[in-house]
Amino acid sequence: MGKADCEEALDRLFEYIDHELPEDEVQRIGQHLKSCPPCETEHKINEKIKRLVNAAGSEVAPDDLRERVLATIRASHADH
Ligand SMILES: [Zn+2]
Repeated sequence: MGKADCEEALDRLFEYIDHELPEDEVQRIGQHLKSCPPCETEHKINEKIKRLVNAAGSEVAPDDLRERVLATIRASHADH
């Protein structure tokens, strides 16, 4: 697994979360996320942001949400 894999995975993350990728890409990205904790973390953050954006409607700035989600994740990591 190299840097290129990470770049590709992160590049496709939104499409992956939105289920806009063909099945073989989904498999590939999914595999990478499982084996690469930093990308998996990024995936979780973005998934959470997407859920919050969907719940809050389009009027909330994703940047604000991202900050909030990151703060939540940092706080939960502090427990371990
Ligand atoms: Zn990666």
